[in-house]
Amino acid sequence: MSCIFCRIANGEIPSATVYEDSMFRVIMDLGPASRGHALILPKVHAADLTELDRRTAEGVLPLAAQIGTAMKKGLGCDGLNLVQNNGAAAGQTVSHFHVHLIPRYEGGPDMVTWQPQPSEKEELEGLAKAIRDAM
Ligand code: AMP
Ligand code: ZN
Repeated sequence: MSCIFCRIANGEIPSATVYEDSMFRVIMDLGPASRGHALILPKVHAADLTELDRRTAEGVLPLAAQIGTAMKKGLGCDGLNLVQNNGAAAGQTVSHFHVHLIPRYEGGPDMVTWQPQPSEKEELEGLAKAIRDAM
C-alpha cells in the first residue's frame, strides 16, 4: 500500500485520531487551516469523489455532522466549513478521497473566498444543459 492516507486510515502510520469505525478514520490535519482542522478518511481507497462507492459516500455526511457537532461543543468554534478537493486543479494534493472539517471562529483566521463573477441567463442555461446531457 503506497497511498499515505490508506496507510493512515488503516492504522499503519500513527495519527492524531479523533474517531474510528470500520469504514472511516478522522484525523487532525498536520497543516491546519484553523484550530481543530480535521480530515475524514475512508479506509477503502478512492482517488476522489468520482471514484467513491455509494456506501462510503452515504456514510460521509452523517459522520461530518457528528464531528461538526462535537467541534462546536468541544472547541467552541462558531462555524464549520466542509472542503473536499477533487483533482490537482481543485487543490487536491493527496489522491485519496478526504473531507476537510475546518472549524471557523469569529475574528478569523480567514479562508480563501471567491469573487462572484457576472453571469448571463443564456450562459447558465447552456452550462446546466451541458452537465445534464452528460448525466
Ligand atoms: P488536499 O489538498 O485537499 O489534498 O488536502 C490534503 C491535506 O492533507 C492537507 O490539508 C495537508 O495538510 C494534509 N496532510 C497531508 N499529509 C498529512 C498527514 N500525514 N497527516 C495529516 N494530514 C496530512
Ligand atoms: Zn488511499
